Amino acid sequence: MSEIDSERFTDDRRSLLRSNLDELEHRINMACVRAGRRRSEVRLLPVSKRVPSAIVRMASELGLSNFGENKVQEAEGKVRDLADLSLDWSIIGHLQTNKVKSMVNFASEFHALDSLRLADALQVRLGAEGRRLDVFVQVNTSGEESKYGLSPNEVAEFVRRLPDYPALIPRGFMTLAIFSGDAAKVRECFKLLRQLRDALRDRASSGLNLLSMGMTSDFEMAIEEGADVIRVGQAIFGSRPTKDGHYWPRLLRGNEESS
Ligand SMILES: *Cc1c(COP(=O)(O)O)cnc(C)c1O
Repeated sequence: MSEIDSERFTDDRRSLLRSNLDELEHRINMACVRAGRRRSEVRLLPVSKRVPSAIVRMASELGLSNFGENKVQEAEGKVRDLADLSLDWSIIGHLQTNKVKSMVNFASEFHALDSLRLADALQVRLGAEGRRLDVFVQVNTSGEESKYGLSPNEVAEFVRRLPDYPALIPRGFMTLAIFSGDAAKVRECFKLLRQLRDALRDRASSGLNLLSMGMTSDFEMAIEEGADVIRVGQAIFGSRPTKDGHYWPRLLRGNEESS
């Protein structure tokens, strides 16, 4: 590309990002109005997975400062590329224990706590570094085998064990709704997470108050069902190519990815 072309490209990308963000804000606001909630009750966590560092930089220039990534290695690259900015990084995807050490180096928040084994590994590493980490407990509310997360009937026991991990700061629950065109089924997933939260939050100092749920295809419903954090990527950055470079409609994409 010539310099002029690349400048125009940059301008186009910036104005596209800005209009996507404006549109998204509008939709979030409308959902809040429908749900009788204030906009300030819903936190937008922009998801930058598979978005190049240069575009994330542009997004930061438009005022975003916290990004969600589902792969530790990819996130590390962006953390390095964007080290001159003060950004907060959230890991939102399943984590293998061998990635704990790397994650602890840069992440400010983890949305996919789904086993005691992982809690153990996090406790050891965070303890060694003398720090703590905000965590969300991931629940598989859809029952789909392709999804990570505790099954709903394991959650109470898991929550009971959390105080054994003082380096973990319990913040709430996270889920991905079923991949389905049937809105009622999607809504059931969000309702279930809220019911679990409501049933468990009165446990002494569990701290698990927030609901991290809703993405591009379903965040409005999630807000109506009480989401405190919505994790949105494609509505901001545009649709993502699959690993082999094709743009599949989301409903055809079966599997959740992990680090
Ligand atoms: C990719 C991803 C999102 C965002 O999905 P979009 O369709 O881009 O909005 C949210 N949560 C998790 C765990 C993800 O992996």
